[in-house]
Amino acid sequence: MGIWSRRKFFLMSLASSFTAGAGKLLAGSLPANEAPLRAAAVPGTRPIIISSANGLHALDKGMDILRKGGDTLDAAVAVVTVVEDDPNDDSVGFGGLPNEEGEVELDASVMHGPTHRAGSVAAVRRIKNVARLAQTVMQETNHVMMVGEGARRFAVAEGFEEMNLLTEHSRKIWLAWKASSSMNWRPGVDSPEWKEHVRAIFDEDEAKIAYAERVIAHPPTGTIPCMAVDEKGDISATTTTSGLAWKIPGRVGDSPIIGAGCCVDNEVGAAGSTGKGEENIKISGGHTIIEMMRRGKSPEEACLEALGRIARNYNNDKKKLSTFHIFFYALNKDGVPGAASLWRNHYEEKGHSVYAVHDGTQARLAECKPFFDEINAHG
Ligand code: ASP
Repeated sequence: MGIWSRRKFFLMSLASSFTAGAGKLLAGSLPANEAPLRAAAVPGTRPIIISSANGLHALDKGMDILRKGGDTLDAAVAVVTVVEDDPNDDSVGFGGLPNEEGEVELDASVMHGPTHRAGSVAAVRRIKNVARLAQTVMQETNHVMMVGEGARRFAVAEGFEEMNLLTEHSRKIWLAWKASSSMNWRPGVDSPEWKEHVRAIFDEDEAKIAYAERVIAHPPTGTIPCMAVDEKGDISATTTTSGLAWKIPGRVGDSPIIGAGCCVDNEVGAAGSTGKGEENIKISGGHTIIEMMRRGKSPEEACLEALGRIARNYNNDKKKLSTFHIFFYALNKDGVPGAASLWRNHYEEKGHSVYAVHDGTQARLAECKPFFDEINAHG
C-alpha cells in the first residue's frame, strides 16, 4: 500500500459499502460491462451532475434534487456535504488531515450560475460544512470571500455547529508526521526507532502504518469539486477541501479561489480542480477552462489546455512536473462532462485516473484524459 494515494485508499473503502465495481476498477480488473465510461463517450444530457471520484457514492443525492426541479447549487452542495460529513475521507471536512499544528483548516467556494453570484471561505477552523458556509456567505452577505477567524465567527452567528474536526485516525497520522519532522526526534525518519514509534501509534495495524508512511513521505492534497446542470441549462458548482496536509497555518489553496478551483458562467459551463492548488492559482485554471469552452473547445479539451499552461510554466520539464499531480473537471451547458489529469495515473500501472458522473441513470466512474501518458507516484 506504500504507493497508494489516499484518494485510492478512500475509494477502496467505498467498495464494500457502495459498489463492487469501484473496488474492482481500482484493482485494475474491471469486467467489460463495468468499465469506466470513456470520457469522450459520455454524451451531453440534462440534468447531469459530476464530481471528483470521491463523490461517486453521493451523486444520487444531487441528482434527486435536480430531478425534482431543485436548484443546481443546492444539488452540488448536497453532494459535497455527504463527503464533508464522512470521517473516512481525510481530504475534506470532518477527519481532514490537519495543518502542521494539528488543526484542520478548510477552504470552500460556490458559484451560482443563474444569479451570477459567488461565495467562498478560506482557512476556516472548527466548522465542518464549509461548502454550505460559502453558500451562506453568498446568500446572506454582499461579500464574496471570508477567511479565518472572521469566517468562523460568521458561521457560528449563522447557526453552524462548532466542533473538533480532527478524528482519532487523522490525529494519529499527525502525531506520526510530527515525530518525523521534529527537531528533537533524534533517530530520524527512516530509522528503526521511528518506525517502531509509528507501529506503536497504530497498534501494529499494517494498513494504517503503510498509509501513514505514505502521506508523511508525500504530503497529500484532496478535495471534492461538484458541478451540476439542470434540465433548463442552469449551472452551479462548488469545491471543498481540507487542502494540503501538514500545511503552514494560513496556507490557502485554489479551492476557495473563484476562477481557479471553481468557476461558472451560466452561458457556458462550470469547472473545478483537485491536486496542487498553487499550480492552478498561477494559471487561473477554472477561468481558463470556461473561456476555452466559450470558444468552442469540449470540456475535456479545455481541461487539457489548462494542464498545458501548467506544463509550460515548467518548460514542459517532466522531472519538475512529476513532483505534483493536478486534475481539472468541466461540464458544459449542454451537459457534456470532461476531465483531464496531468499524469495518466498516480497509483498503479494499469488504468486511468477517474472522476464521477451521474447522467440521470446511474452514478459511474469515467476516465480522465491524461496530459502525459505516464504514471506519477507522487500525486
Ligand atoms: N487543490 C487543493 C488545494 O491545493 C487540494 C486538493 O485538491 O487535493 O488545497
